[in-house]
Amino acid sequence: MINLYGLTLEKLQNLMLIEGQKPYRAIQLYTWIYEKRVTSFDEMSDISASFREVLKEKYCLNLPTIYRKQVSADGTVKLLLELEDGMKVETVLMRYDYGCSVCVSSQVGCNMACSFCSSGILGKQRNLKPEEMVGQILVMNNLLKEEGKGMHVTHAVVMGTGEPFDNYDNVMDFIRIINAQKGLAIGARHITVSTCGLIEGIHKYAREGLQTNLAISLHAPNDELRNSLMKINKAYPLEILMSAIKDYENIAGRRVTYEYLLLSNINDTLECAEQLVNLIKGTNGYVNLIPYNETNKNNYKRSSGNRVHAFLDYLTKHGVKATIRKEFGSDIDAACGQLKAKTEGEVIDERK
Ligand code: SAH
Repeated sequence: MINLYGLTLEKLQNLMLIEGQKPYRAIQLYTWIYEKRVTSFDEMSDISASFREVLKEKYCLNLPTIYRKQVSADGTVKLLLELEDGMKVETVLMRYDYGCSVCVSSQVGCNMACSFCSSGILGKQRNLKPEEMVGQILVMNNLLKEEGKGMHVTHAVVMGTGEPFDNYDNVMDFIRIINAQKGLAIGARHITVSTCGLIEGIHKYAREGLQTNLAISLHAPNDELRNSLMKINKAYPLEILMSAIKDYENIAGRRVTYEYLLLSNINDTLECAEQLVNLIKGTNGYVNLIPYNETNKNNYKRSSGNRVHAFLDYLTKHGVKATIRKEFGSDIDAACGQLKAKTEGEVIDERK
């Protein structure tokens, strides 16, 4: 069965041609599933009964199911979703004054093995399919609909479990589906992909003709330190990463966001701030400082508020735009770096 939620409009149009249908069938289907939000082919009244039978035979509209739901005091919702093969993946809904954002997972587990991150502990189990990423948004939209406040998902960040550029094609299809005007119509500028620095992915992404955002998990301003935190830096050291970022800025015409996690006494010194300024000053990017969320799997500690502010001040005084990331859902382990679904189905809470 082909899951309709995993098809870009273009792919669906091609399939409709193969089915002997006119390409506008694809737009009709998109309208039914994303705008009118029907979940069964029988409700699609402008599609002939005979073609509905064909659709029922070959296509489905399956969503992941909610295995576990946690709601934080600040309204953040973390879901553990069960996929068709029983694997589980986490997704988080965050509420801002400008809208609702979903932190989407792109893989079950992750192979990048960053030393501070819980998602990599079990390694990668598999890539998520486009419909499994679209499904994360649709399930959140259903929850928002149930709340009855007229809200829906307006922003998506591919910053959950997994490395999106290690699942490149599926992530691009996902983006095209949620961005499509006849799809979920989430504006390109409201979609962000975050990478630890897979260079081929950055070069390709630059050439997709998308107006979406790119975030780079930088976390260290020199190779020695970055090697110790992020394995990927040994394959793609900073010089190569920075030149890929410049290529992206030139080709895509977009600036990047640098994510910089602050780890006490590791990368939060003013010396590091100075190196960071020098490293990125040739680019137009700005820095998003992330307070570290501690786990008991390593000894990293969160930088104190004073150090975070001293770091921020140094950057801004030296002409680098920077902000401190707002924190959500830390009481339900939904904060950055805490997403980690085990295949057997239990959410492991490493801090207990
Ligand atoms: N693989 C991608 C996207 C997933 S990680 C990437 O590396 O960008 C999303 C962000 O959360 C990354 O910047 C990651 O470094 C950060 N992160 C990981 N563990 C964290 C933790 N314990 N506290 C805060 N941020 C963390």
